[in-house]
Amino acid sequence: MKIHTQAVHAGDRRKPTGAVPVTTPIYAASSFFYDTTDELDRVIGMEQAGYSYARYDNPTAAALEELVTALEGGHGALACASGMTAVQMAVETALTDRRASIVAADALYGASTKLLLNVLEPRGVEVRFVDICNLDALSAAVSHAKPGCILMETISNPLLRVGEIDKIAEIARAAGAALVVDNTFATPLIVRPLDLGASFSVHSLTKYLAGHGDVLGGAVVTDAAHFDALRTLARIVGPVLGPFESYLSMRGIKTFPLRMERQCANACRVASWLGSHPRVERVHFPADPAHPDAPAIRRLFAAGLYGAMVSFEIRDAGRPEIFRFLDRLQLVVRATSLGDVHSMILYPAMSSHRDLAPKHRERVGIRDNLVRLSVGIEAVEDIIADIEQAFA
Ligand SMILES: *Cc1c(COP(=O)(O)O)cnc(C)c1O
Repeated sequence: MKIHTQAVHAGDRRKPTGAVPVTTPIYAASSFFYDTTDELDRVIGMEQAGYSYARYDNPTAAALEELVTALEGGHGALACASGMTAVQMAVETALTDRRASIVAADALYGASTKLLLNVLEPRGVEVRFVDICNLDALSAAVSHAKPGCILMETISNPLLRVGEIDKIAEIARAAGAALVVDNTFATPLIVRPLDLGASFSVHSLTKYLAGHGDVLGGAVVTDAAHFDALRTLARIVGPVLGPFESYLSMRGIKTFPLRMERQCANACRVASWLGSHPRVERVHFPADPAHPDAPAIRRLFAAGLYGAMVSFEIRDAGRPEIFRFLDRLQLVVRATSLGDVHSMILYPAMSSHRDLAPKHRERVGIRDNLVRLSVGIEAVEDIIADIEQAFA
């Protein structure tokens, strides 16, 4: 054989030796080879399980999907290129064979609100927003809109409100709608939406699950009733997570419960310290007994875990004072994203909610003195010391 041919073929398509790698390798192949055409035919026709083409599935992504399915207690999952792709895939699947109408929580991740208003509504999907923590308001909106899908987040951004997923799932079921829960902030360590009756649990893997600030990804975990529709749509569109990102996500998830426990414990300490600091006007944190959703939190959250996001309002601060405070931080990283091993801080009026007029922001409770802290795994004394010196 000529070198040009060897360069293309030598070393590839080797049979497994019998030894199994202890962790899942990165399978970068875009297509898969079988001994006989007959076998490939059965795989493509989905009469036989197997891989054929990377838009349909990939062994590295499949391992990650099995992992997140187990964590969320679902029937199956789809690993997606981003959290937003996961939200979109879940909503599109929820609306398959249902009325093109969505009732959504009025507090959602900014891009999710934009997906509803700028992408789905112009295509003829009815969109209605409601305070998901007010079940009477939700029931009224649902009987009016007759939605095919209800969309909410377990812990809302940035005010950390918590809806009663089990009761909302009942309302959804009675109306024939599918409940999609973005579980990014809570993670399956704290709440498993499918156990509470939701049809879809969605993640930005970018945040707590992968957790190291080095990968963008998403996941949709769903029940048996919706899994085939999800995979069918995915086979056509190909919103898949690449094998390298799948590998990084899976590697990150191995330590996710340990990281999350530490982050939650650190967040409790930081929140109570902030609560007694003279420079702090108000702290928003789910462990607070005076939290507006305290009964739901007690009922639905895993004991002693309240998430690792802490939002707080700095007394008499406006944009210039907030910027000065943020610029003084030495350890806590000023950046978008959350859930990483390092603590991060963000100013919602500048980022997730910058497109809202100040008056509208104020009306939804996001004041110009509010910052959102994602507490990391550092020694909590160092996090507190950094915030303290930035207040000074
Ligand atoms: C970050 C985030 C998303 C979007 O995820 P990407 O990975 O950035 O696409 C969706 N929902 C929530 C709650 C998020 O925090």
